[in-house]
Amino acid sequence: MQLFIQTIDQASRIAHRAMDRMREENIPPSPENYTVWYAYYSGNYPDLVRAVDILASNNQTFTEQHCVDLYRQFFANDAEVEAVRDAGQKLHASVTEVLSALKGAGADVDRYGHTLQAAGDALGIARTLEQLKSLVQTMASETELMAARNKSLQSELTSSADKIESMRRDLDSVRREALTDGLTGIANRKRFDQTLRDAAVGAMERGQPLVLLMVDIDHFKRFNDTHGHVAGDNVLKLVARTLTEQVKGKDTPCRYGGEEFAIVLPETRLEDALTLAEQIRNAVASRKIVKRTTGESMGTITLSVGAARYRPGEPLTKLVQRADAALYAAKTGGRNRVLADADDVAEKVG
Ligand code: GH3
Ligand code: MG
Ligand code: MG
Repeated sequence: MQLFIQTIDQASRIAHRAMDRMREENIPPSPENYTVWYAYYSGNYPDLVRAVDILASNNQTFTEQHCVDLYRQFFANDAEVEAVRDAGQKLHASVTEVLSALKGAGADVDRYGHTLQAAGDALGIARTLEQLKSLVQTMASETELMAARNKSLQSELTSSADKIESMRRDLDSVRREALTDGLTGIANRKRFDQTLRDAAVGAMERGQPLVLLMVDIDHFKRFNDTHGHVAGDNVLKLVARTLTEQVKGKDTPCRYGGEEFAIVLPETRLEDALTLAEQIRNAVASRKIVKRTTGESMGTITLSVGAARYRPGEPLTKLVQRADAALYAAKTGGRNRVLADADDVAEKVG
């Protein structure tokens, strides 16, 4: 995205209108959505304006999907994304500059309010949630500082601080939602990727073992076909709950996709991971599944589990592949069982 902004004031005005519009249309203020609306009000994207206005004149409600499509259409190539990031950084730098000038000058509340506004506007341009969070953090601490300096500003500042706090909470919940599986409430695939990466780094740094378990429900298609999707969804929740109950501390159970789960076990030896996997398998298998509405028995559900021990330095895709291969062996070996990667086991014995 090319930006034509000279001053923080101009940026602030455009940003303000973009934020208001998103609030009006009930569109989440993600960086992509923000980019679309910022560009719309900047006056520099006639084609984008036309596309948006056509949608509006057809009385179409703006959904997030519209924004995603517009973003893809107008901005989603690397060079432009780069430019957006640069612009965001420049704006952020300006805000920080103004903030530090303010600190030195012991400025009045008007200036302060303006600064806060500008920082708030810059929030929308930040490229990642982490950037957004750090901007909010800056605003929050600045507010506290002003409050401490000038007692007479206290009430205005308290209300600003409340707004910032609620923004911070919004960002936290957006972030949490982005990393949580909607159905089961446990970590989703994205969080799995992050967790596994962090765990691998930790394992290398501290020379600790790390094990990955891949867990798949047996004959789940059959269960769905027999009892319906809603009952199937409830089983997925039950399995997620069981995984959460059985693990502890640093262990992270995730929904890897569909009816497949993964558990990242830092600081865990392979044999302990296999004991845990066996406990989980047993906990699920010994549970009678009953239809909530009618009390009708739907039999039992079993799990197959594959385990692999992380080898320091190996690509994480390789680790996942090895755990998956062990899972596949558990399936072909008859299901309802736990198996470790054959090489990991051989190493252990040898
Ligand atoms: P296997 O023992 O070999 O794993 O057999 P399977 O039937 O479990 O495996 P398959 O991959 O053939 O089918 C997976 C099924 O999982 C397909 C689909 O019915 C079900 N499934 C995947 N995601 C969901 C979901 O979100 N909800 C429900 N209810 N079912 C799902
Ligand atoms: Mg399955
Ligand atoms: Mg599967």
